[in-house]
Amino acid sequence: MNAPSSTSLEERIIALIAAQGPISVAQYMTLALHDAKGGYYATRQPFGAAGDFMTAPEISQMFGEMLGLWCVQVWHDQGQPRHKRLVELGPGRGTMMADALRAAKVAPEFLLGLDVVLVESSPALQKAQAEKLKDSGAAIRWAPHFDDSMADRPLFLLANEFFDAMPVRQYVKTERGWCERMVVTKNGALDFALAPTPTPHAAIAASRAGAPDGGIYESAPASTALAEAIARIVAEKGGGALLLDYGYGENPGDYGETLQAVGGHRFADVLADPGENDLSAHVDFAAIAGAARHGGAAVYGPRAQGEFLADLGITGRAEQLMKTNPAAAQNLFSAVERLIGPDQMGNLFKAMALLPPSAAKPPGF
Ligand code: SAH
Repeated sequence: MNAPSSTSLEERIIALIAAQGPISVAQYMTLALHDAKGGYYATRQPFGAAGDFMTAPEISQMFGEMLGLWCVQVWHDQGQPRHKRLVELGPGRGTMMADALRAAKVAPEFLLGLDVVLVESSPALQKAQAEKLKDSGAAIRWAPHFDDSMADRPLFLLANEFFDAMPVRQYVKTERGWCERMVVTKNGALDFALAPTPTPHAAIAASRAGAPDGGIYESAPASTALAEAIARIVAEKGGGALLLDYGYGENPGDYGETLQAVGGHRFADVLADPGENDLSAHVDFAAIAGAARHGGAAVYGPRAQGEFLADLGITGRAEQLMKTNPAAAQNLFSAVERLIGPDQMGNLFKAMALLPPSAAKPPGF
């Protein structure tokens, strides 16, 4: 696209569709989130009370601490390999990594020679993360995406609310078969339309035979490819990956769409003002598990985040923190409740772990 830089992202997407034809929902999502000039992650600081949404690590330091200790335990169970890498996908403000590294100090040998890599596509967020982690004591580097350069040693990988930002393609069940939902222009604005011919997608038809007319199936090719790549490294070199996200577990949901736009803590129209709102979709953990098994890893979960954190001992950690700072007791109580309460993040959010098939069961599962 050769549009001048003052053109809005929406205008550039409309020009792209005029030139190229309808684009997939996944391509729209990629542009709205990652376009270098107008994409949501590329241009804003979305997290926290002042931002668009609140994530678990921003609710309490206990979340990142539990995850750091999880890595230490898995490393310990696998004979404490000396050369190892700790990777976080989509670290946001860097809060979770800061808390994880601090907690991991209980095992100084884990931190010794640890290669820490933050996978972050947004230069603005990379900067925020560097600032947050400048006193962490760890040697940290950044990569714009996960790739095979991380295949040379045991891999410990954490990802919170990363897979929900992976672009989804949507297919709608019609009388003529599953048709892909595309983004088109109508009267000068962005709109949805079904592809006129069905997608020859035997796998959808077979696994979603019970879907009603109008039922929607979302697939996230980038998620499954990534899960398989991570699983391959973990299975071959050791380590463990822990993925936390909101999504559905064993069953494919109710065939409704889950793609959503959120801005300023409110839902917005997915196609309105691309780049202004966060776009995300429920994570299909069954699809991720299938891809990870194909990559050779053993899969644990998905398990409700609340049960997972409770098993790891988050309540005990809260009590410990209350003792050193009684004035914070009320805040600590409510943070634990938000993270593990079934009506809060405890049930909707799930944890899934990928380990080498020969490794012991990881904590929390
Ligand atoms: N884990 C953080 C932030 C979640 S938001 C938290 O829990 O608070 C998603 C994060 O992933 C952001 O940092 C975003 O910039 C990054 N991100 C999203 N898609 C990405 C991609 N395809 N490649 C690299 N980073 C991505």
